[in-house]
Amino acid sequence: MSVFFPHADFKRIYEIPTEFFQQRGLTVALLDVDNTLTTHDNPTPHKEVLGWLERQRNSGLRLMILSNNTEERVAPFAEGLGLEYIANAHKPLGGPLRQALGKLGVRPEETAVIGDQIFTDILCARLAGCTAVLVEPMEPEPMAFFRVKRTLERPILRAYRKRKGRG
Ligand SMILES: [Mg+2]
Repeated sequence: MSVFFPHADFKRIYEIPTEFFQQRGLTVALLDVDNTLTTHDNPTPHKEVLGWLERQRNSGLRLMILSNNTEERVAPFAEGLGLEYIANAHKPLGGPLRQALGKLGVRPEETAVIGDQIFTDILCARLAGCTAVLVEPMEPEPMAFFRVKRTLERPILRAYRKRKGRG
């Protein structure tokens, strides 16, 4: 079960303090887009996200977008933020993630993967040996397949929170 558990969780990405990365020796964060930096398919980042990116950059954290969404969706969004990106990342598969690590010249142990989905973002991070950081989705997705995924996530989140409460 633990391969589905995040190492840490926050409500919103912009609530993750710079110290979170520094204390864990994390030098890179790979960022999901939809429901992590903004709502699904929204071309504009959440306004709090801009300040967060700036704070993290100033603290020395290197940032890159790793999204399963299409090139058409991800490229203008990433370019608007001045971030490098990988679209069609096929999370939870590890190929594009490893490509990102290679491009940045970093090891998985110093890399955080941040996203809102257990079966893509968290599983991908865990399988690759990165630090998995879960955020709550910014808004519920209207699409039916997402409702199925969120339903399947529920018992895992319950088990994770129970263990976290004990720990
Ligand atoms: Mg997402």
